[in-house]
Amino acid sequence: MATDITTDRLRELAETRTAQGKVLSVFINLDPREFATPPARATEISSVMDEAGRAIRDHGTLTHAERTALEHDVERVRAQLRNGLDTEGARGLAVFASELAGLFEILKLPRPVPHKVAISDHPCVEPLARIGAGELWWLVLVDRRRVRLLAGTIDGLVEVWRQDDDVPGKHDQGGLSQARYQRSVEKEVDDHLRAVNAELQRRIKANRVAGILLGGPKETVAHLEQMLHADVAKCLKGRFDVDVWNSSTDEVLNAARAVLDELTARRDRELQQRIDEGLGTGGRAAAGLNEVLTAVHERRVDTLVVQDGFTAKGTRCPQCGWLGVSAGGQCPADGTMTEAVDDVVEIAVARAFAQDARVRYRPATDLWLEQKGSIAALLRF
Ligand SMILES: [Zn+2]
Repeated sequence: MATDITTDRLRELAETRTAQGKVLSVFINLDPREFATPPARATEISSVMDEAGRAIRDHGTLTHAERTALEHDVERVRAQLRNGLDTEGARGLAVFASELAGLFEILKLPRPVPHKVAISDHPCVEPLARIGAGELWWLVLVDRRRVRLLAGTIDGLVEVWRQDDDVPGKHDQGGLSQARYQRSVEKEVDDHLRAVNAELQRRIKANRVAGILLGGPKETVAHLEQMLHADVAKCLKGRFDVDVWNSSTDEVLNAARAVLDELTARRDRELQQRIDEGLGTGGRAAAGLNEVLTAVHERRVDTLVVQDGFTAKGTRCPQCGWLGVSAGGQCPADGTMTEAVDDVVEIAVARAFAQDARVRYRPATDLWLEQKGSIAALLRF
């Protein structure tokens, strides 16, 4: 499984605005169930890039310079994808390119995406947000001498660290008595687990994880748990059974899935409860598009909850970025004439990411969220 999406990367993209030139955003579906062979994938990539070419040609408001630059972008993407960009394991691709703005990125996605071509003054990150919105989990696989750290969402994991602390002395008793040999082996295990703890402690500083799961032999896992640093221990959410060394990332995910599903459901229930409480007391929550857009504009959102497939036309103030639901009219903040936008929900999601808020998508069948107007938010203040 391959993925290049991180929350940080998403945030950077969501914040990107080009002073000159337009941004081409292209999403390519490489669902292995539909595009199993390399030729099928190549054909698919080529056909979506053709579509991008047509979108540029048929676009009504591009300047000559913008059009030429975007055409170069399409050629550059084609060349990259032809000349051995490794799409192995990717279930989709996201392309963001703007020659004039110096932007060129091809990201591998862990999950299929619908095709999409967009030309805008910013990268279209909403389909990415949908994937990245899955919260980041760490799965730590550990036995008496080895460790693996896999990071990702319920849609896919990436192995980020793997180490075999095999120590030569372990298999060579030399002149040691049985008792001393045993003590030296136990010390090696101890050193190994201490090193694991130190590395996790170092890495957790730079990451915001929904939780950590430990997998491996019960005794070793319990041993590691006893020595975990408080910063790591407070993220520990569960344990699962797994082959520590020989399982693929997909097998690890499958082994942890039941635990992850349960934990995710619990987090969603807690979030729902906190939003209900906030709404009930007139406190830190917002519901319905209008209220939520205001909160997004005021940078108050902690967690945005959106129903899958929810879209709405709206307006945006070109001056201050104010977002609204009704068409036309002036910005209430500065009186500037607002401009119409096709999907104000997409903009709200991108902006929430840019503000370091979490975004949770809920299924279209979620009645609780539907009664809230298909969108709600937990607020920071
Ligand atoms: Zn304004």
